[in-house]
Amino acid sequence: MRACVLHDFGDLRVEEVPDPVPGPGEVVIDVACVQLSVTECALLAGEDVYGHAAVSERLDRDGPQRLLGHEFCGRVRELGAGVEGLEVGDLVTSIELIPCGRCTACRNGFRFECPSYEVLGFHRPGALAERLLVPAEVVVRLPDALSIQEGAALQPLSAAVMAHTVAQVRPGESVAVIGGGVMGLLAVQLARIGNAGLVALTTRDPRKLELARELGADVVVSAVDGDATAAVAEATGGLGADVVFETAGGATSLGLSGTATLDQAVEMVRRGGRIVEVGVLPARAEAPLGAMREKYVTFLNPPSGIRRHTPVEHTLDWAARLVVDGRVDLTSLITHELEGLDAVPEAIRITVDKASSGAINPAQILLGAASGA
Ligand SMILES: [Zn+2]
Repeated sequence: MRACVLHDFGDLRVEEVPDPVPGPGEVVIDVACVQLSVTECALLAGEDVYGHAAVSERLDRDGPQRLLGHEFCGRVRELGAGVEGLEVGDLVTSIELIPCGRCTACRNGFRFECPSYEVLGFHRPGALAERLLVPAEVVVRLPDALSIQEGAALQPLSAAVMAHTVAQVRPGESVAVIGGGVMGLLAVQLARIGNAGLVALTTRDPRKLELARELGADVVVSAVDGDATAAVAEATGGLGADVVFETAGGATSLGLSGTATLDQAVEMVRRGGRIVEVGVLPARAEAPLGAMREKYVTFLNPPSGIRRHTPVEHTLDWAARLVVDGRVDLTSLITHELEGLDAVPEAIRITVDKASSGAINPAQILLGAASGA
């Protein structure tokens, strides 16, 4: 089969590699659609983001690597001995965190706290390939009503579901969302169907303001020439938002806001309100702790990062149901679809610079029968 092989940062080649063969308890999946997150794209390009040092060391030590690609969906191609509950042809995705199954955490039912886990596409080959081998226990069946594009975009939605869950939005509460990227626009949709009385969003991109309005935001404010803090204050009778989702923070090298939007979140939230930090901030990021203390703000961190970002099955199942039932619109967020593994470098170019390309969801790559190739 064909697969992407990283020879060096920025040097990703499509090569012929051995077909995966399922051992007992394993499943081979024909990849139908795969997408790379902004962070994954930045890592492949050689930026100093999470995982850079580890990948650099492995390239030096072991040579070319098959890396990344955990946001995907595909169809079951082959089942190893003893696999039950799956059929050849089933539409599936996989949880990216593969627990060891033997340690204390795993044996006590905390398998997503397993200290000896492997991550799909990092410790073992991911979905930047025609086929993928995974243990059956991490395979998640998806409803047939889901498109393959929606299936590949379920992991960010699952993360957004977890962010919404930790916020515990009570009926009628006001929700402000900072950032109009995929996580911001998902936060708007989940707030809309999840009890919020008022939903506001601010972003720099006028097209995303319009889309946020279509997806259910009551108040949209340009971050370029508007004053979102003042608009939220006005819409809440001067109180401030009960909950602020901060989704724009992160490395400025990736077009994110650094910590400026965290400052804004603290200004925007009401006294005693909650801030949910969806953006991934640097380890020692500056934070307005004094102002947060003064306003007795609760600062909530949803499960995130390559380890805890992993949705548990029921989160993925729920995410899939939200899409199939028409309560969350993923299709409007999927802006770029490319065909075949040879298009991976182009997908990376689009995804790392979403501002220029107008992308919202990461660029998707269709493979196999789905690509028409
Ligand atoms: Zn374990």
